[in-house]
Amino acid sequence: MNILVINAGSSSLKYQLMDPETGVVAAKGLCERIYIDGRLTHKVGDRKVVKDIPMPSHSEAIAAVLEILVDPVDGVIKSTDEIDAVGHRVLHGGMKFSDSCIIDDKCIEAIEACIPLGPLHNPANLMGIRACQAVMPNTPQVAVFDTAFHMTMPPKAYRYAIPTEYFENDDIRRYGFHGTSHKYVTRRAIALMGREDIKLVNCHLGNGSSLSAVANGKCQDTSMGLSPLAGVPMGTRSGDIDACVVQFICNKYGMSVDECLTMLNKKSGVLALSNGVSSDFRDLEAGANNGDAACQLALEKFCYEVRKYIGAYAAALGGLDCLVFTAGVGENGPTTRADICQGLEFLGVKLDPQRNNVRGKEALISADDSKVKVWVIPTNEELMIAQDTADLVNAAK
Ligand code: AMP
Repeated sequence: MNILVINAGSSSLKYQLMDPETGVVAAKGLCERIYIDGRLTHKVGDRKVVKDIPMPSHSEAIAAVLEILVDPVDGVIKSTDEIDAVGHRVLHGGMKFSDSCIIDDKCIEAIEACIPLGPLHNPANLMGIRACQAVMPNTPQVAVFDTAFHMTMPPKAYRYAIPTEYFENDDIRRYGFHGTSHKYVTRRAIALMGREDIKLVNCHLGNGSSLSAVANGKCQDTSMGLSPLAGVPMGTRSGDIDACVVQFICNKYGMSVDECLTMLNKKSGVLALSNGVSSDFRDLEAGANNGDAACQLALEKFCYEVRKYIGAYAAALGGLDCLVFTAGVGENGPTTRADICQGLEFLGVKLDPQRNNVRGKEALISADDSKVKVWVIPTNEELMIAQDTADLVNAAK
Protein backbone atom coordinates (compact mmCIF):
# COMPACT_ATOMS: atom_id res chain seq x y z
CA MET A 1 0.00 0.00 0.00
CA ASN A 2 1.14 3.59 -0.64
CA ILE A 3 0.12 6.12 2.02
CA LEU A 4 0.83 9.81 1.57
CA VAL A 5 1.45 11.36 4.99
CA ILE A 6 0.85 15.12 5.19
CA ASN A 7 1.80 17.50 7.99
CA ALA A 8 0.48 20.92 7.00
CA GLY A 9 1.63 24.02 8.89
CA SER A 10 0.60 27.63 8.35
CA SER A 11 3.24 28.27 5.65
CA SER A 12 4.79 24.85 5.15
CA LEU A 13 3.76 21.31 4.30
CA LYS A 14 5.80 18.16 4.93
CA TYR A 15 5.05 14.93 3.11
CA GLN A 16 6.16 11.31 2.96
CA LEU A 17 5.01 8.57 0.63
CA MET A 18 5.43 5.32 2.53
CA ASP A 19 4.50 1.69 2.84
CA PRO A 20 2.74 1.28 6.21
CA GLU A 21 3.74 -2.36 6.52
CA THR A 22 7.47 -2.07 5.91
CA GLY A 23 7.91 1.59 6.85
CA VAL A 24 9.89 2.08 3.63
CA VAL A 25 9.73 5.71 2.50
CA ALA A 26 9.59 5.99 -1.30
CA ALA A 27 9.92 9.80 -1.29
CA LYS A 28 9.61 12.67 1.14
CA GLY A 29 9.89 16.42 1.12
CA LEU A 30 8.84 19.84 2.21
CA CYS A 31 6.92 22.75 0.68
CA GLU A 32 7.99 26.04 2.23
CA ARG A 33 7.07 29.69 1.89
CA ILE A 34 3.44 28.92 0.99
CA TYR A 35 1.53 32.23 0.53
CA ILE A 36 4.90 34.00 0.01
CA ASP A 37 6.49 32.50 -3.12
CA GLY A 38 6.93 28.74 -2.78
CA ARG A 39 9.76 26.23 -2.68
CA LEU A 40 9.64 22.45 -2.94
CA THR A 41 12.43 20.23 -1.60
CA HIS A 42 11.93 16.62 -2.69
CA LYS A 43 14.06 13.65 -1.65
CA VAL A 44 14.22 10.16 -3.08
CA GLY A 45 16.85 8.18 -1.17
CA ASP A 46 19.98 10.34 -1.17
CA ARG A 47 18.84 12.38 -4.19
CA LYS A 48 17.51 15.86 -3.47
CA VAL A 49 15.65 18.16 -5.87
CA VAL A 50 14.83 21.78 -5.03
CA LYS A 51 12.31 23.69 -7.17
CA ASP A 52 10.86 27.17 -6.85
CA ILE A 53 7.16 26.79 -7.62
CA PRO A 54 4.52 29.49 -7.01
CA MET A 55 2.39 28.44 -4.01
CA PRO A 56 -0.26 31.12 -3.39
CA SER A 57 -2.11 28.58 -1.21
CA HIS A 58 -1.88 25.02 0.15
CA SER A 59 -3.68 23.76 -3.00
CA GLU A 60 -0.72 24.64 -5.23
CA ALA A 61 1.63 23.05 -2.69
CA ILE A 62 -0.32 19.77 -2.77
CA ALA A 63 -0.53 19.95 -6.58
CA ALA A 64 3.27 20.40 -6.73
CA VAL A 65 3.79 17.39 -4.44
CA LEU A 66 1.56 15.17 -6.59
CA GLU A 67 3.22 16.40 -9.77
CA ILE A 68 6.72 15.56 -8.56
CA LEU A 69 5.62 12.18 -7.16
CA VAL A 70 4.55 11.15 -10.71
CA ASP A 71 7.39 12.96 -12.53
CA PRO A 72 9.15 10.60 -14.99
CA VAL A 73 12.58 11.62 -13.64
CA ASP A 74 12.13 12.62 -9.98
CA GLY A 75 8.92 10.71 -9.23
CA VAL A 76 8.37 7.30 -7.64
CA ILE A 77 4.89 6.35 -8.93
CA LYS A 78 3.32 6.39 -12.40
CA SER A 79 -0.02 7.86 -11.44
CA THR A 80 -1.63 9.44 -8.39
CA ASP A 81 -4.07 6.47 -8.51
CA GLU A 82 -1.24 4.52 -6.88
CA ILE A 83 -1.74 6.58 -3.70
CA ASP A 84 -4.16 4.41 -1.71
CA ALA A 85 -4.91 6.96 1.03
CA VAL A 86 -3.73 10.18 2.62
CA GLY A 87 -3.03 10.50 6.37
CA HIS A 88 -3.09 14.01 7.83
CA ARG A 89 -1.48 15.06 11.08
CA VAL A 90 -3.99 17.23 12.98
CA LEU A 91 -2.90 19.00 16.16
CA HIS A 92 -5.99 19.26 18.31
CA GLY A 93 -8.87 16.80 18.45
CA GLY A 94 -10.32 18.30 21.62
CA MET A 95 -12.76 16.01 23.45
CA LYS A 96 -14.23 14.91 20.12
CA PHE A 97 -11.52 12.50 18.97
CA SER A 98 -10.05 9.66 21.00
CA ASP A 99 -8.78 7.97 17.85
CA SER A 100 -7.90 8.65 14.24
CA CYS A 101 -10.86 8.97 11.86
CA ILE A 102 -11.76 8.81 8.19
CA ILE A 103 -12.33 12.35 6.96
CA ASP A 104 -15.90 13.22 5.98
CA ASP A 105 -18.00 16.36 6.42
CA LYS A 106 -18.76 15.51 10.06
CA CYS A 107 -15.08 15.00 10.86
CA ILE A 108 -14.17 18.32 9.21
CA GLU A 109 -16.87 20.09 11.21
CA ALA A 110 -15.48 18.60 14.42
CA ILE A 111 -11.91 19.66 13.56
CA GLU A 112 -13.26 23.15 12.88
CA ALA A 113 -14.97 23.14 16.26
CA CYS A 114 -11.55 22.46 17.86
CA ILE A 115 -10.00 25.62 16.34
CA PRO A 116 -10.37 27.61 19.60
CA LEU A 117 -8.22 24.93 21.29
CA GLY A 118 -5.61 24.83 18.51
CA PRO A 119 -5.88 28.29 16.94
CA LEU A 120 -2.52 28.21 15.11
CA HIS A 121 -2.40 24.63 13.87
CA ASN A 122 -5.93 23.36 13.22
CA PRO A 123 -6.71 25.94 10.49
CA ALA A 124 -3.46 25.00 8.69
CA ASN A 125 -4.21 21.28 9.08
CA LEU A 126 -7.68 21.90 7.58
CA MET A 127 -6.15 23.75 4.63
CA GLY A 128 -3.99 20.70 3.93
CA ILE A 129 -7.06 18.42 4.13
CA ARG A 130 -9.18 20.62 1.83
CA ALA A 131 -6.35 20.99 -0.69
CA CYS A 132 -6.00 17.19 -0.89
CA GLN A 133 -9.76 16.71 -1.21
CA ALA A 134 -9.78 19.17 -4.12
CA VAL A 135 -7.03 17.45 -6.11
CA MET A 136 -7.73 13.82 -5.03
CA PRO A 137 -11.51 13.69 -4.52
CA ASN A 138 -11.65 9.89 -4.74
CA THR A 139 -8.75 9.06 -2.44
CA PRO A 140 -9.68 8.26 1.19
CA GLN A 141 -8.26 10.66 3.76
CA VAL A 142 -7.67 10.08 7.44
CA ALA A 143 -7.05 12.55 10.30
CA VAL A 144 -4.58 11.48 13.00
CA PHE A 145 -4.67 13.67 16.12
CA ASP A 146 -1.76 14.68 18.32
CA THR A 147 -4.09 14.62 21.33
CA ALA A 148 -5.91 11.31 20.71
CA PHE A 149 -3.54 8.91 22.50
CA HIS A 150 -3.98 10.85 25.74
CA MET A 151 -7.79 10.61 25.76
CA THR A 152 -7.66 7.53 28.02
CA MET A 153 -6.50 9.72 30.94
CA PRO A 154 -8.86 9.59 33.95
CA PRO A 155 -10.54 12.82 35.14
CA LYS A 156 -8.16 13.12 38.11
CA ALA A 157 -5.35 13.54 35.55
CA TYR A 158 -7.08 15.70 32.96
CA ARG A 159 -9.24 18.03 35.05
CA TYR A 160 -7.82 21.36 36.20
CA ALA A 161 -8.77 22.43 39.71
CA ILE A 162 -10.70 25.47 38.47
CA PRO A 163 -14.50 26.06 38.42
CA THR A 164 -16.36 23.29 36.58
CA GLU A 165 -18.06 25.72 34.18
CA TYR A 166 -14.79 26.20 32.28
CA PHE A 167 -14.63 22.46 31.69
CA GLU A 168 -18.31 22.00 30.93
CA ASN A 169 -18.77 25.11 28.77
CA ASP A 170 -15.35 25.53 27.22
CA ASP A 171 -13.69 22.07 27.29
CA ILE A 172 -10.77 23.48 29.29
CA ARG A 173 -8.74 20.51 30.57
CA ARG A 174 -5.42 18.75 30.08
CA TYR A 175 -5.18 17.24 26.58
CA GLY A 176 -1.49 16.54 25.97
CA PHE A 177 0.39 16.47 22.67
CA HIS A 178 3.01 14.40 20.79
CA GLY A 179 0.36 11.66 21.08
CA THR A 180 1.34 9.99 17.82
CA SER A 181 4.92 9.68 19.08
CA HIS A 182 3.84 8.43 22.52
CA LYS A 183 1.57 5.88 20.83
CA TYR A 184 4.34 4.68 18.51
CA VAL A 185 6.96 4.20 21.24
CA THR A 186 4.36 2.61 23.54
CA ARG A 187 3.64 -0.02 20.89
CA ARG A 188 7.36 -0.63 20.37
CA ALA A 189 8.01 -0.83 24.13
CA ILE A 190 5.22 -3.40 24.54
CA ALA A 191 6.70 -5.43 21.67
CA LEU A 192 10.23 -5.18 23.10
CA MET A 193 9.10 -6.05 26.65
CA GLY A 194 7.00 -8.93 25.31
CA ARG A 195 3.89 -8.01 27.32
CA GLU A 196 1.24 -5.33 27.43
CA ASP A 197 0.71 -5.11 31.21
CA ILE A 198 3.71 -2.85 31.82
CA LYS A 199 3.99 0.39 33.75
CA LEU A 200 5.76 2.67 31.36
CA VAL A 201 7.03 6.26 31.30
CA ASN A 202 7.78 7.74 27.88
CA CYS A 203 10.14 10.74 27.64
CA HIS A 204 9.70 12.50 24.28
CA LEU A 205 12.57 15.00 24.55
CA GLY A 206 13.17 17.23 21.56
CA ASN A 207 12.76 20.88 20.82
CA GLY A 208 9.31 20.35 22.32
CA SER A 209 9.27 17.84 25.18
CA SER A 210 6.57 15.83 26.91
CA LEU A 211 6.30 12.78 29.13
CA SER A 212 3.51 10.26 29.39
CA ALA A 213 2.59 7.70 32.04
CA VAL A 214 1.17 4.55 30.47
CA ALA A 215 -0.37 1.42 32.02
CA ASN A 216 -1.49 -1.58 29.91
CA GLY A 217 -0.82 0.45 26.76
CA LYS A 218 -3.20 3.25 27.82
CA CYS A 219 -2.15 6.78 28.69
CA GLN A 220 -2.83 7.66 32.34
CA ASP A 221 -1.22 11.11 32.48
CA THR A 222 0.91 13.44 30.38
CA SER A 223 2.93 16.58 31.01
CA MET A 224 1.55 18.97 28.36
CA GLY A 225 -1.85 20.49 29.01
CA LEU A 226 -4.51 22.49 27.21
CA SER A 227 -1.62 23.64 25.04
CA PRO A 228 1.95 22.41 24.44
CA LEU A 229 3.30 25.11 26.81
CA ALA A 230 2.92 22.99 29.95
CA GLY A 231 5.25 20.40 31.44
CA VAL A 232 9.05 20.35 31.47
CA PRO A 233 11.12 23.31 30.19
CA MET A 234 11.69 22.99 26.43
CA GLY A 235 13.82 24.58 23.72
CA THR A 236 11.97 27.91 23.87
CA ARG A 237 8.90 27.11 26.04
CA SER A 238 8.90 27.71 29.79
CA GLY A 239 7.01 24.57 30.74
CA ASP A 240 4.93 24.66 33.96
CA ILE A 241 4.74 28.12 35.48
CA ASP A 242 2.71 29.83 38.22
CA ALA A 243 -0.08 31.79 36.43
CA CYS A 244 0.70 34.76 38.68
CA VAL A 245 3.98 35.23 36.79
CA VAL A 246 1.86 36.22 33.77
CA GLN A 247 -0.15 38.70 35.86
CA PHE A 248 3.02 40.21 37.37
CA ILE A 249 4.83 40.65 34.04
CA CYS A 250 1.76 42.01 32.22
CA ASN A 251 1.11 44.55 34.98
CA LYS A 252 4.70 45.65 35.41
CA TYR A 253 5.72 45.86 31.74
CA GLY A 254 2.39 46.80 30.17
CA MET A 255 2.36 43.61 28.12
CA SER A 256 -0.83 42.03 26.84
CA VAL A 257 -1.53 38.41 27.84
CA ASP A 258 -0.87 37.40 24.21
CA GLU A 259 2.53 39.12 24.25
CA CYS A 260 3.42 37.47 27.52
CA LEU A 261 2.38 34.06 26.16
CA THR A 262 4.54 34.63 23.08
CA MET A 263 7.47 35.27 25.44
CA LEU A 264 6.67 32.06 27.35
CA ASN A 265 6.38 30.05 24.13
CA LYS A 266 9.19 31.49 22.03
CA LYS A 267 11.76 33.18 24.29
CA SER A 268 11.83 30.97 27.37
CA GLY A 269 12.92 27.41 28.19
CA VAL A 270 16.59 26.42 27.91
CA LEU A 271 17.12 29.32 25.47
CA ALA A 272 16.29 31.75 28.29
CA LEU A 273 18.10 29.84 31.03
CA SER A 274 21.27 29.78 28.91
CA ASN A 275 21.01 33.59 28.63
CA GLY A 276 20.17 33.32 24.94
CA VAL A 277 23.01 30.97 23.93
CA SER A 278 20.75 28.45 22.19
CA SER A 279 17.62 26.32 22.26
CA ASP A 280 19.65 23.49 20.71
CA PHE A 281 20.96 20.93 23.16
CA ARG A 282 24.18 20.40 21.17
CA ASP A 283 25.09 24.08 21.63
CA LEU A 284 24.19 23.92 25.31
CA GLU A 285 26.39 20.86 25.83
CA ALA A 286 29.28 22.60 24.04
CA GLY A 287 28.75 25.73 26.18
CA ALA A 288 28.52 23.72 29.40
CA ASN A 289 31.73 21.84 28.51
CA ASN A 290 33.46 25.21 28.04
CA GLY A 291 32.42 26.23 31.54
CA ASP A 292 29.44 28.48 30.68
CA ALA A 293 27.47 28.50 33.96
CA ALA A 294 24.19 29.52 32.28
CA CYS A 295 24.37 26.58 29.84
CA GLN A 296 25.16 24.29 32.77
CA LEU A 297 22.11 25.60 34.65
CA ALA A 298 19.87 25.19 31.57
CA LEU A 299 20.84 21.52 31.22
CA GLU A 300 20.68 20.91 34.96
CA LYS A 301 17.19 22.44 35.22
CA PHE A 302 15.94 20.46 32.20
CA CYS A 303 17.21 17.14 33.58
CA TYR A 304 15.92 17.96 37.07
CA GLU A 305 12.38 18.66 35.83
CA VAL A 306 12.32 15.55 33.60
CA ARG A 307 13.56 13.46 36.57
CA LYS A 308 10.80 14.94 38.78
CA TYR A 309 8.14 13.97 36.23
CA ILE A 310 9.52 10.42 36.00
CA GLY A 311 9.32 10.13 39.80
CA ALA A 312 5.82 11.58 39.86
CA TYR A 313 4.62 9.22 37.14
CA ALA A 314 6.18 6.19 38.82
CA ALA A 315 4.16 7.18 41.90
CA ALA A 316 1.01 7.76 39.81
CA LEU A 317 1.38 4.33 38.17
CA GLY A 318 2.29 2.62 41.46
CA GLY A 319 5.59 1.35 40.04
CA LEU A 320 7.75 1.40 36.95
CA ASP A 321 8.77 -1.44 34.61
CA CYS A 322 10.05 0.48 31.63
CA LEU A 323 11.43 3.93 30.81
CA VAL A 324 11.66 5.08 27.18
CA PHE A 325 13.70 7.93 25.68
CA THR A 326 12.74 9.26 22.26
CA ALA A 327 12.90 12.31 19.91
CA GLY A 328 15.99 14.46 19.10
CA VAL A 329 17.49 14.74 22.58
CA GLY A 330 16.09 11.47 23.94
CA GLU A 331 17.52 9.52 21.00
CA ASN A 332 20.82 11.36 20.61
CA GLY A 333 21.81 12.68 24.03
CA PRO A 334 23.61 10.05 26.15
CA THR A 335 24.83 12.70 28.63
CA THR A 336 21.33 14.14 29.09
CA ARG A 337 19.88 10.64 29.53
CA ALA A 338 22.54 9.80 32.14
CA ASP A 339 21.95 13.07 34.01
CA ILE A 340 18.19 12.49 34.05
CA CYS A 341 18.58 8.96 35.42
CA GLN A 342 21.10 10.07 38.06
CA GLY A 343 19.31 9.71 41.40
CA LEU A 344 16.59 7.38 40.09
CA GLU A 345 18.44 4.31 41.42
CA PHE A 346 15.95 4.15 44.30
CA LEU A 347 13.24 3.41 41.70
CA GLY A 348 15.33 0.59 40.24
CA VAL A 349 16.72 2.57 37.28
CA LYS A 350 20.36 1.71 36.54
CA LEU A 351 21.92 2.66 33.23
CA ASP A 352 24.77 0.75 31.63
CA PRO A 353 27.22 3.51 30.57
CA GLN A 354 28.48 1.53 27.57
CA ARG A 355 24.98 0.68 26.31
CA ASN A 356 23.88 4.26 26.92
CA ASN A 357 26.54 5.49 24.50
CA VAL A 358 24.14 5.10 21.58
CA ARG A 359 22.58 7.59 19.16
CA GLY A 360 19.48 7.30 16.98
CA LYS A 361 19.15 3.53 17.30
CA GLU A 362 16.70 1.30 19.14
CA ALA A 363 18.66 -0.05 22.13
CA LEU A 364 18.33 -1.32 25.69
CA ILE A 365 20.51 1.02 27.76
CA SER A 366 19.89 -0.28 31.29
CA ALA A 367 22.24 -2.63 33.13
CA ASP A 368 21.34 -6.32 33.36
CA ASP A 369 20.53 -5.91 37.07
CA SER A 370 18.36 -2.80 36.54
CA LYS A 371 14.83 -3.51 37.79
CA VAL A 372 13.47 -0.97 35.29
CA LYS A 373 14.29 -1.62 31.63
CA VAL A 374 15.42 1.60 29.97
CA TRP A 375 15.14 1.85 26.18
CA VAL A 376 16.05 4.29 23.46
CA ILE A 377 13.31 3.99 20.83
CA PRO A 378 13.57 6.31 17.80
CA THR A 379 10.12 7.72 17.20
CA ASN A 380 8.39 7.54 13.83
CA GLU A 381 5.27 9.66 13.82
CA GLU A 382 4.88 9.40 10.04
CA LEU A 383 4.84 5.60 10.21
CA MET A 384 2.24 5.71 13.00
CA ILE A 385 0.08 8.05 10.87
CA ALA A 386 0.51 5.76 7.84
CA GLN A 387 -0.41 2.65 9.88
CA ASP A 388 -3.50 4.27 11.43
CA THR A 389 -4.54 5.46 7.96
CA ALA A 390 -4.08 2.02 6.39
CA ASP A 391 -5.92 0.28 9.27
CA LEU A 392 -8.95 2.58 9.00
CA VAL A 393 -9.10 2.49 5.21
CA ASN A 394 -8.74 -1.33 5.11
CA ALA A 395 -11.42 -1.74 7.80
CA ALA A 396 -13.82 0.44 5.79
CA LYS A 397 -13.43 -1.65 2.60
P1 AMP B 1 13.39 17.24 17.67
O1 AMP B 1 12.49 18.37 18.08
O2 AMP B 1 12.87 15.89 18.11
O3 AMP B 1 13.79 17.29 16.23
O4 AMP B 1 14.75 17.44 18.51
C1 AMP B 1 15.57 18.56 18.34
C2 AMP B 1 16.59 18.59 19.47
O5 AMP B 1 17.38 17.38 19.43
C3 AMP B 1 17.58 19.75 19.38
O6 AMP B 1 17.66 20.44 20.62
C4 AMP B 1 18.89 19.07 19.10
O7 AMP B 1 19.94 19.72 19.75
C5 AMP B 1 18.71 17.71 19.73
N1 AMP B 1 19.70 16.79 19.15
C6 AMP B 1 19.74 16.33 17.90
N2 AMP B 1 20.87 15.60 17.73
C7 AMP B 1 21.55 15.65 18.91
C8 AMP B 1 22.78 15.11 19.41
N3 AMP B 1 23.54 14.38 18.61
N4 AMP B 1 23.13 15.36 20.70
C9 AMP B 1 22.34 16.09 21.53
N5 AMP B 1 21.16 16.63 21.11
C10 AMP B 1 20.78 16.40 19.83
